Amino acid sequence: QRVGFALVGIGKLTSQELIPAARTSEHAYVAALVSGEADKAQGFARALGLGEGDAYTYEQFDELANRDDVQAVYIVLPNSLHREYATRAARMGKHVLCEKPLGVNAEDAQAIVDACREAGVLLMTAYRCQYTPEHWAARDAVQGGTLGPVRLLHSIHAQVEDDPEAWRLKRDLAGGGPLPDVGIYSLNTLRFITGQEPEWVFATQHQPESDPRFREVEASMSALLGFPGGMSATIQTSYAAHKTTTLSVMGEKGSLTMDPAFPYDGLKLRISSEDGTHEPAFPEYDQFTLEFDHFAGCIRSGRGPWTPGEEGVQDHVIMDALYESARTGQVVRLPGSAKADAFR
Ligand code: NAD
Repeated sequence: QRVGFALVGIGKLTSQELIPAARTSEHAYVAALVSGEADKAQGFARALGLGEGDAYTYEQFDELANRDDVQAVYIVLPNSLHREYATRAARMGKHVLCEKPLGVNAEDAQAIVDACREAGVLLMTAYRCQYTPEHWAARDAVQGGTLGPVRLLHSIHAQVEDDPEAWRLKRDLAGGGPLPDVGIYSLNTLRFITGQEPEWVFATQHQPESDPRFREVEASMSALLGFPGGMSATIQTSYAAHKTTTLSVMGEKGSLTMDPAFPYDGLKLRISSEDGTHEPAFPEYDQFTLEFDHFAGCIRSGRGPWTPGEEGVQDHVIMDALYESARTGQVVRLPGSAKADAFR
């Protein structure tokens, strides 16, 4: 039997990606919808073949407690609202799938992890790229030694945000600018494919406050991350640069490039090594269906998800350090690391 999800927040991601993806999922289905607007929720419910009683307003959210067929809640709201709705869902005994970034900072994200642990429910951070065959092939090439010891990594995730009123440009709702929204893909992917954690970070940011879009959050950030053994990575992210999503990894014996690296489809991977240059082909898939199916499988088996809440917290710990570095102009050492002292 498929696992029933309630989708909370019917914005662009829910309407354009998640609802279609759930339709093709073998193991998950949308059992309920929650929105600020009753009419909107009912319209989407009807289109899914659900009844009026399956559409809830935010005020009615806690009534999901009475729905045994809703086993999981998928939170697709502006970032600062993740904690409230994840905590309330956990208290109802519902498993939680939460969009990235998990919260607005490490403390906020950790509170979500704690609430889910206390309630005994599963928590998954929706890092869709970690479920794609392209990202797994890149990880296998790096961790399987095809490239030799990895020395350098570089990733860019940029796009233009036009609307000065967008919630993504409000610090209270978003927690930051392009870094937690799109730069997080670069950061999370570097950690995923290398399996390593940075020891120190250094960052600069540009915030032209005369531009009404960037009164509250950065327009661009450039960051340098140092890993054990001398491996280093650069990450660049922006809300004021043309749409770009790339990732490059340079080892001693080979290199790989993903361009584009982070869209919903059409990812391209090229691996160059002693065996020549290859562009592996992969069967078609829907990233959101893969996520739904993975979490549904976890709920059925009681197994923890591949990208648990802790994975979301770790990115926040690093992003908090990047903001601290940009503010102070100093290298910031990450917890548990002695290396940065030597760098200083
Ligand atoms: P969106 O602006 O399209 O939708 C947000 C929804 O939240 C809307 O339905 C809006 O009405 C509702 N909302 C409730 N309270 C609100 C408030 N105070 N201010 C503004 N909106 C409010 O956003 P989205 O693109 O769907 O993003 C939602 C979440 O999904 C975010 O956490 C975002 O980071 C994440 N996201 C992830 C991906 C991905 O590829 N995994 C892609 C896009 C967005």
